[in-house]
Amino acid sequence: MKSDKSTLWEYPVTVGVAFRVIINVASPSHEAATGEYTEHKKAPIYYGGRTYLDVPIISGNALRRYVKEALIVTAEKHGLPLGNLCRKGIFTHWNTKRDLSNDVGASDLAVNDVKNHLRKCVMEDVAGFMYAEGASIVRFSRLHVATMKPTYESLSQAKVYPIQFARHVPGKEGGKGKSGQMVFRVEHISGEFAGLMTFDAHLLGFDDYTQQYFVKVPDDVVERAEAVLEAMYIALNRLGAMKARSMTVGDVTSLTITVAQGLFTPTDPARRDYIESTVNEAQKYEELTGWKVNVITYPKESAGIAEAFTKAKEKLGELLKESLAGGSNAGQSP
Ligand SMILES: [Zn+2]
Repeated sequence: MKSDKSTLWEYPVTVGVAFRVIINVASPSHEAATGEYTEHKKAPIYYGGRTYLDVPIISGNALRRYVKEALIVTAEKHGLPLGNLCRKGIFTHWNTKRDLSNDVGASDLAVNDVKNHLRKCVMEDVAGFMYAEGASIVRFSRLHVATMKPTYESLSQAKVYPIQFARHVPGKEGGKGKSGQMVFRVEHISGEFAGLMTFDAHLLGFDDYTQQYFVKVPDDVVERAEAVLEAMYIALNRLGAMKARSMTVGDVTSLTITVAQGLFTPTDPARRDYIESTVNEAQKYEELTGWKVNVITYPKESAGIAEAFTKAKEKLGELLKESLAGGSNAGQSP
């Protein structure tokens, strides 16, 4: 379908996933240290008046990694291309020529060639990369994951402790120590945490430098967006994907997914009223911009988080097809 429009899409399509999860006795950030001193991941949270509380936090980068690990599986299921390194869970983001060569089999990267490389690996398409050998190229991530912090009601209850255990250390045999064992301290966290993930679905399969899609529009963009949404679900599904070293066990207590025309982000889920606030903000946003926001909630409206993600996937496909079918790129194969 050809269109006389010059824009590539009718409107941007953005997804937000705000959630609360109870985590008990787990090390989701995989922080570990040897020796007598352990630095935990903590941050000051403003508590009103003149009060700040030092609370444990969970690295957004840790959660991001779990989404990317899940994306290996969902991308393959959707028949999407993956580079050789990313397929193995080695995410180098093409920092060097060697990484680039190992991942997508190319020896160099030029600005006008980015889309040819992105075509070979969906991981870099979704999560971005930096490359600074020769040309200086930045491809911004379409996937954004915030630091997880305790919900405001549980700020003073969330705990982080070092738990001590012994582990074999490679290379220790060469030193004076007789054994290869060493004492480690690993952080273990308990509390109710709030997390937020978003992604810009209309920019998947799209090259910023040439401002062109390098996949079939809208079908391939929808396929990529569905793979990302499914990966988010897998990462959150009792956090069973958090198995980089130890396995985090958690329970999602509530969830709000927004699938929006334009740029919309759910309310900070650390706020007790984040679901109502997101619904209210979405209504005001619709009045102001004339764009629509689908708000999907759990547990009130969906029986489980899988059901919420299924509804979101449906809405996401509808919006992407409508938006991209009206753009000037519609129906074109690269
Ligand atoms: Zn890759």
